[in-house]
Amino acid sequence: MGIHEMVAQYREMLEDSPLNLVAEWKAKHPGSKVVGCYPVYTPFEIIHAAGMLPVGIIGAGNRLEIAHADSRFQSFVCSIVKSTLELGLIGNLESLDGIVFHSICDPARNLASVFKRNFPKLQVEYVHFPQNMASPHTVNYLAAEYRTLKSNYERLAGRPVTDDDLRKSIRVYNEQRKLIGQLYRMRREAPQNLSTLETYVLTRIGTLIPPEEHIGLLKEAIAAAKERDERPKDRIKVVLEGSFCEQPPLELIEGLEAAGCYILDDDFLLGWRFFKQDIPSEGDPVENLARAYLNQSVYSGVKHDTREAKSKHLIDKVRETGASAVVILAAKFCEPALFDYALYRRALEKEGIPHLYLEFEEKMWIFDKARTEVETFVESMLFD
Ligand code: SF4
Repeated sequence: MGIHEMVAQYREMLEDSPLNLVAEWKAKHPGSKVVGCYPVYTPFEIIHAAGMLPVGIIGAGNRLEIAHADSRFQSFVCSIVKSTLELGLIGNLESLDGIVFHSICDPARNLASVFKRNFPKLQVEYVHFPQNMASPHTVNYLAAEYRTLKSNYERLAGRPVTDDDLRKSIRVYNEQRKLIGQLYRMRREAPQNLSTLETYVLTRIGTLIPPEEHIGLLKEAIAAAKERDERPKDRIKVVLEGSFCEQPPLELIEGLEAAGCYILDDDFLLGWRFFKQDIPSEGDPVENLARAYLNQSVYSGVKHDTREAKSKHLIDKVRETGASAVVILAAKFCEPALFDYALYRRALEKEGIPHLYLEFEEKMWIFDKARTEVETFVESMLFD
């Protein structure tokens, strides 16, 4: 299958009813368990090593009417929190046996409590990530947090998780991340051959299927993308930042490119691309996962790391990719993204790097305003 056909097929699945894929997997594997993972990052390896399927529960896109969840939250809260609850309230999360949230922000913390109260059949877990990355106790603290998670998942799966199980899972996810990284590199080096919409769809489908299956799919997509040899268009090269949790509608991603941008890097689906190098599989695997969070993970608005300014990472990314501008694409009412923007803006202005700030919501249907803003920004750069 060519890459165009692959992306069209997976896009349809994602836009239609993505959780059908999960229900189908479960029907084919009677007795198996599925654990939903709220963004941004989950140590999927622990779930996978228990023989369960970790799947991304990343909101509901723009095809779902929010009818029940609105009454459970204040109005000024990001869309993903409401749409995730709506999915539960209308019975779309029935194939899940568990769901895991993390200490990324107050709305996510509250959502975990709301889930616990409203869905007693679901095993709801909550991971407290470290707030102090410079302490000598951080690795031990996070490893203890992961060990609690592991024993809770052993209970859910009804079987023990050995170190060897975990090592195997670490190797599988290392390979998945390596291939996603390869896809991203190909787009960065020749964005005319692989669009951001394509890398996005090819990555996102992997949040819903077993990683082993995704690895095969990625290999096929990479081989197909290598066959392409398109002529570059007259577009500006940008880095996109700010969409690390809630995801923008596919039409918006497509619209940014059509308005004249080559996106050389982004922070979509960050939890599935969270580590810069492979996680070692030898030694204590739980400790390795904890150490990797501390020393090998990418920066993000929801990771509290004061060892190096996030804005420095963004500037480095712009320099390394060769981009000439930044598009900040932040979810409406996402506090971590808004806090980051204040820092990014100052750093970008200091470095003389132009940027455009845009906000999105899952339920966006009309993209004309965003598209016009991007076109104006692109023109101001092309004809400066
Ligand atoms: S989009 Fe932002 S505010 Fe909403 S849950 Fe995610 S990190 Fe929290």
